[in-house]
Amino acid sequence: MKKKFKNILTLIMIICVFWYAIEHIGMGLNVINLEEIKFNLNEEGKSANQNNINLSRELVLVNKDHSLNKDYKPEELTIPNILFADGTPREEKHVAGVIIRPLEELVNAAKGEGVILLGNSGYRSYKSQENTYSDRVRSQGKKLAEAYVAKPGFSEHQTGLCIDITNQDKYFVKGTKEADWLAENCYKFGFIIRYPYGKKSITGIEYEPWHIRYVGKKAAKYIHDNGITLEEYLEK
Ligand SMILES: [Zn+2]
Repeated sequence: MKKKFKNILTLIMIICVFWYAIEHIGMGLNVINLEEIKFNLNEEGKSANQNNINLSRELVLVNKDHSLNKDYKPEELTIPNILFADGTPREEKHVAGVIIRPLEELVNAAKGEGVILLGNSGYRSYKSQENTYSDRVRSQGKKLAEAYVAKPGFSEHQTGLCIDITNQDKYFVKGTKEADWLAENCYKFGFIIRYPYGKKSITGIEYEPWHIRYVGKKAAKYIHDNGITLEEYLEK
């Protein structure tokens, strides 16, 4: 009887030791996981600062003073279901996933009012910007190239959040019904005319009625209603 009791006690002790060990190892794993998550967050926060990416990705600022690194690639690059101008390279038909729906809605709304908008150039990778830039330097020299082509990393097209729009005549200037419709209505879908007339001193880029940039509906409405640029909006 005494021996049996001893055996049961030993068994209970073994179970307790096992239970403790499992709990302890389990907690150990939890600690490691938490540390990993913390580490990942720090890494993300760090690269966000380095690349000047705001917490809200759709408000990322890319201009002559703020660049993206060569590895930056937008999430969910996709070709939207819209018409494109002839000759648009396949890469440039892509845009970031977040702007697919707003862009399709914008183009469809225009079509509903008899205005046909065509995609002309969306995403451009760091690599293709690099090629365009060096081709231009070779053919026209550094000074002219710098005036007309963004250096790799400094083009907003690398964000996938913008797209150049054109019309069937490929003549997209103020006064055409397509450019006027876009300027009046794009904010309703979360887009802005990124380089407005008379704002070169702020944006660093001449007036471009065709280049629209997604910033989300709230920011787009504010920027539209106040006649300001993304730079001014982010400083307010
Ligand atoms: Zn553009």
